[in-house]
Amino acid sequence: MSDFSGKLYVPGDAGFEEAVFARVFNARRPTDRRPSAVLVAENEHDVVAGVRYAADNGLSVAVRSGGHSWAVWSVQNNTLLIDLGKLNSAAYDEATGIVSGGPAIQGGNELDPFLAERGRFFNGGHCPPVGIGGFLLQGGQGWCQRGWGWAAESVVAIDVVTAEGELVRADAERNSDLYWAARGAGPSFPGIVTKFHLKTRPRFQHLFHSVQVYDIADFAEVMTWMYAVEPTISPDVEIVCVSLCPPSVDGEPRKRVFVVTGVALVDSPEAGHEALAPLQTCPIIDRAFENVMAESSLAEQRESQIQMNPENWRYYADNVWVDGEVHDIVEALTPVFTTSPEPDAFTIWFGNGLMRELPDMAFSLQSPAYIATYLAYEDSANDARNRAWLNDAMVAAQPVTVGQYLGDSDMTNRQLKFMADDNFARLQKIIAERDPEARFVRYLAGDSATVNRNHWEVSS
Ligand SMILES: Cc1cc2nc3c(=O)[nH]c(=O)nc-3n(C[C@H](O)[C@H](O)[C@H](O)COP(=O)(O)OP(=O)(O)OC[C@H]3O[C@@H](n4cnc5c(N)ncnc54)[C@H](O)[C@@H]3O)c2cc1C
Repeated sequence: MSDFSGKLYVPGDAGFEEAVFARVFNARRPTDRRPSAVLVAENEHDVVAGVRYAADNGLSVAVRSGGHSWAVWSVQNNTLLIDLGKLNSAAYDEATGIVSGGPAIQGGNELDPFLAERGRFFNGGHCPPVGIGGFLLQGGQGWCQRGWGWAAESVVAIDVVTAEGELVRADAERNSDLYWAARGAGPSFPGIVTKFHLKTRPRFQHLFHSVQVYDIADFAEVMTWMYAVEPTISPDVEIVCVSLCPPSVDGEPRKRVFVVTGVALVDSPEAGHEALAPLQTCPIIDRAFENVMAESSLAEQRESQIQMNPENWRYYADNVWVDGEVHDIVEALTPVFTTSPEPDAFTIWFGNGLMRELPDMAFSLQSPAYIATYLAYEDSANDARNRAWLNDAMVAAQPVTVGQYLGDSDMTNRQLKFMADDNFARLQKIIAERDPEARFVRYLAGDSATVNRNHWEVSS
């Protein structure tokens, strides 16, 4: 038996079931998958010991950092699940501006306040409790990703426990294959990251936001205008269009609306107004029920994320990168934006039209716009109906779909391309060299032979 500082749970132990799903965000949990043991690691030495314990006991290893994977990737059969929840410390180096954080540190709740005290910023995930571990490994669509880059682009080094159970540093010079893979491999990374070393930037002084609320019937007109204006807008602005049902007023039935939002992270009020001004050019702006441009704060923005993603609810999420003629895109996206069986479901269009060239890293697939649906609901009786609606809406989007982002994916339901072919081939080579015995779990997919291919392009 290994000597762990943390606690090892096996089936039958009091606390085993709680440990299997500890901190898992999605209340819709897998019923056909269970680990063979769970290790709640106290420190990185436990992670090393855990990998060796798994090898001695013929188990693969799955890990959990923040527990926010929609598809609950951390829970898999025949595995030792290593829970990294206690690896959540942060340290900042004044001389380099680099922050070093444990994989379970929550981007918004923990890392950001730590950096704010030091006048620095790192563009972590939008919802405050998302762990940096899974988020960074799959690319990381943080605040202002459109202009400031994928969060993984700010990773300068990682500390990794390898399949042999050794703790190593990986960066551009040392173990550069692992460093390359860690920026995009997502849940098939051949190692366990125990620490991320991240470049930070000076903190913005002001956050201004613009919010316009339209009738959902105006979706096509507003979306068409958005495709024209978005690439002209400053890289300091995040642009998200959302279909949602605001809370009921005076007991009236909730009505779906289309909301155009811009968030400018800037250093002066003048810069905020200037950056958001192009959003006032919508040709049907006089039809907006609401048109606000005002100072806001990251705390206020985060609170709205928490309201939209309630804890202990059931979720289906799916997503697509889309490209093509604007008319075709708008038509293909009409079902997912204008219909939904659940009033609390919302769908986002995330502007990415600036499309900067990506550095050499595993993450390599994106397009001028990202679309994701989050079907939030409470009643398990609606599981089948909601699954069917989301699948149908994604089929409608197929003609303009180029692929998906791992962060909002579930490959047990359907598979899409998420990485350029050359990068995927290079990643498979790294995995084969670094983890020949498959100590670490790979992508949790319905069909492992067709991973990284759009399902409708796979001939049977
Ligand atoms: C409410 C909500 C809001 C979200 N908002 C955003 C957003 O704004 N931007 C965005 O990009 N994504 C977002 N996501 C998606 C989220 O980034 C992914 O689900 C991500 O996987 C979560 O990371 P985690 O560490 O919390 O998840 P976990 O479930 O703990 O980890 C997911 C998987 O990643 C791998 N992994 C995690 N940590 C490690 C590690 N240290 N070493 C090796 N492998 C590891 C493992 O395979 C693990 O099973 C959101 C998700 C939710 C639920």
